[in-house]
Amino acid sequence: MMNQKIIDKPKSNCGVVGVYGDPEASRLAYLALYSLQHRGQESAGIVSSDRNHVRKHVGQGLVSDVFSDAKVFDYLAGDIAIGHNRYSTTGATHLINTQPLLVNGKDGPFAISHNGNFTNSGYLRHKLESEGSIFQTTTDTEVVLHLVARSRKKDMASKLVDALSQIRGAFSLVMMTNDRIFAARDSNGVRPLCLGKRDEAFFVVSETCALDLIRAEEIRSIKPGELLEISKDGIKSYHFGEKRQRHACIFEFIYFARPDSRIFDENVDKVRRKLGKTLALESPADADIVISVPDSSNTAAVGYSRRSDLKFELGLIRNHYVGRTFIHPQQGMRDFSVRVKFNTVKGVLKDRRVVVVEDSIVRGTTLKQLVSLIRHAGAKEVHVRVSSPPIISPCYYGMDFPSKSELIASNMSVEEIRKFLDCDSLEYLSLEGLLKSVPKEQGGFCTACFSGEYPIPIENNIGKFQHELEE
Ligand code: SF4
Repeated sequence: MMNQKIIDKPKSNCGVVGVYGDPEASRLAYLALYSLQHRGQESAGIVSSDRNHVRKHVGQGLVSDVFSDAKVFDYLAGDIAIGHNRYSTTGATHLINTQPLLVNGKDGPFAISHNGNFTNSGYLRHKLESEGSIFQTTTDTEVVLHLVARSRKKDMASKLVDALSQIRGAFSLVMMTNDRIFAARDSNGVRPLCLGKRDEAFFVVSETCALDLIRAEEIRSIKPGELLEISKDGIKSYHFGEKRQRHACIFEFIYFARPDSRIFDENVDKVRRKLGKTLALESPADADIVISVPDSSNTAAVGYSRRSDLKFELGLIRNHYVGRTFIHPQQGMRDFSVRVKFNTVKGVLKDRRVVVVEDSIVRGTTLKQLVSLIRHAGAKEVHVRVSSPPIISPCYYGMDFPSKSELIASNMSVEEIRKFLDCDSLEYLSLEGLLKSVPKEQGGFCTACFSGEYPIPIENNIGKFQHELEE
């Protein structure tokens, strides 16, 4: 029997949540984590404070697995809580690395949840260890705890400004002490982080879909290089580090974020439709219908359909009850891993010339099987249209991509990929088309996985990241 990951996609990294000023803080954090489950499925956790006691509950698995006993919320008492969904991008997937991390230092309890990757954590860790720090985990996040503990500044906000000024890379952080929460976003603004409010309570979440669930209103995004402190005195804003150009992750709009979210002060749905429309303008197809690879490509496919005047149909149906991995019942039943997840609607596909819209191609293995399924359902022609450019380089800013050698577009031309997929035509959205489709009022975007140009230097520990990505 073989246990195999089903879907060939980059993995989102983590979702973070903070709640301040609601007596049901841990329950609200739990609901918010539910909305952010797509950002990490390996572990989940919540730390809460009733201002006297700080308590933690973490575990491996989905939010519903980790918080399966409602009594845990009585234990996680208080009006302050932070939470985390994890897909590990650094550090092995051990319980010890499960976030939020919680320590008791000379300033009292301090907890942290992190979305992203520090690009100079190898250097900082080495420096801190050579000066006597003893690390408890293998995550890059722990570096913040040591930098805060060593800061000579007087209050926690100043210590955090001091610590965060030394860190490079991508990070959206939610942190707490026993009586306040902090939220910070790296100076390049790579990962999203939003502030919300309901009555007197404040919320900080990775995406606004989490605010919708708990009926909170979005106030704004945390700004790049901004540290927010939320306490009984209200909200204070600080800035740390040098002012840098924004490089928001463009892949959040293409695939990672939920279409019902707002990130980087824009609706994901709107951008994703525009990607589909631009793709239709750049790469029309002589076909009868448009279908999507559900669910992540649905919105782009609708955009393609609208602009091309080809009817959008549901030609592939996704089984939502299959777990993240599939155990083959018997060796040799290789193609079952995709067929267990997707089935075709024969009446829709038979004798039709079909455009299949896919948001991105990583290895191409899943899409190859889908093209074969669509042909077997009787499609006359299969034209693949991808609403992002070819992925040629891995991500070092908090997304888990396969190594360069496994990225199909890093090793094959578009025509070679078409032959591999066995489709009648294959077209990708151009990099220019991608940049034309995203809102630029708030600043620029990282496009490194498509262009190979990394806007934030990868200092000292690139070897470590590459090693981990190739595991
Ligand atoms: Fe996003 Fe790609 Fe840049 Fe990573 S390399 S931050 S996935 S755009």
